[in-house]
Amino acid sequence: MAVTPESLHQRVIFKVLLLMVSGAGILYFLINIQRGLVGLAWVELAMSIASLWLWRNVDALKALRLWSFLYLIPFFSIILFALSDPRISYGMFVWVLLIPIVSYLLLGLWRGFAMACLFMTLAAIVYIWRFHSNPEVINTVVLANVMVCAAALWAFSHIYESSRERSQRILLKLASIDALTGLYNRLRLTEIFNRERQQAEVQRQPLSLLLIDLDYFKKINDHYGHDTGDQVLVAVASHIQRNIRRRDSAFRLGGEEFCILLPGSGREEAHVVADVLRTGLAEQHPLVAGLPVTPTLSAGVATLGDDGKDFVHLYSMADQRLYLAKHSGRNRVVSQGQALQGDSVAGENASSPVLQATL
Ligand code: GH3
Ligand code: MG
Ligand code: MG
Repeated sequence: MAVTPESLHQRVIFKVLLLMVSGAGILYFLINIQRGLVGLAWVELAMSIASLWLWRNVDALKALRLWSFLYLIPFFSIILFALSDPRISYGMFVWVLLIPIVSYLLLGLWRGFAMACLFMTLAAIVYIWRFHSNPEVINTVVLANVMVCAAALWAFSHIYESSRERSQRILLKLASIDALTGLYNRLRLTEIFNRERQQAEVQRQPLSLLLIDLDYFKKINDHYGHDTGDQVLVAVASHIQRNIRRRDSAFRLGGEEFCILLPGSGREEAHVVADVLRTGLAEQHPLVAGLPVTPTLSAGVATLGDDGKDFVHLYSMADQRLYLAKHSGRNRVVSQGQALQGDSVAGENASSPVLQATL
């Protein structure tokens, strides 16, 4: 399972809750045994042992959300069970206030909301059912305190989780977008490739990977300056985006190197796409306003199945073909053949910045 900031966050919270419940479970076991509440005491001890076991294994848990869900149901049920016992004081209600907080923290916004709705409603029913004939508990002041406090905690939990999820989405987006061109950066490449590969396998569709490197880009920088170089990169990125389909994904891997994933395109179609990009670039006048800069590009194509079954093999093959394109004169697309071991292309390939940077 991929480690995401989301799963790290939830794992830490789950661990703290498990530790807290295992300690509290033992404490209440001792208290309730002394008070003669044997049934409840044993349930609390069992919960404590289960929590301790989960705490020890929580780092290895794969379906964290599911485990949290399965854990919260008995945890909240025990709180309600204890609250319903006539021998237990109404002070037990403070535990109910944990329900919305823990639900949102562990299950996220909408699952947390559903869980909080279910158990807060049950808690209200148990509370009224148990104390309806007790004017010391069911009176305007006590009810107002309980309800306002519970509603405030619930509202804060909801707002906190909703804004945390939104901030996290924004941060993740910022972290995966290249600030200069607005294309995806290389952080998203393997993730999107794996997603596309799964779909391609299920739908029995081809999938191709295109690596593009601008020719003699350093000269543009040297001649016109770095800022102009940046403008060229932005113009090339928008040229790429204009010429690919919505379902294709374009990435800037770094420098003047780009990658495009073409789901549904086999070797020939991918070659055509790369060639359209190549010839189209030469026709863009002016690429950068006021300057006669006309870069060309070289590209290597690799296709799922023919050239490998995973990202590493496909990428390596596209990279080798890109360097074949460079060595056979630049401004061309190579979609077949591969560099021989030990020849000049393979030698250069070994130190390819594209390959090193991405793998
Ligand atoms: P080749 O045809 O062999 O690819 O030659 P090249 O000059 O394009 O290749 P090389 O990798 O030697 O040069 C890439 C240059 O890209 C070097 C570096 O200064 C420049 N570069 C890297 N990142 C950026 C960037 O963000 N902006 C600009 N303007 N230049 C960059
Ligand atoms: Mg380069
Ligand atoms: Mg280059």
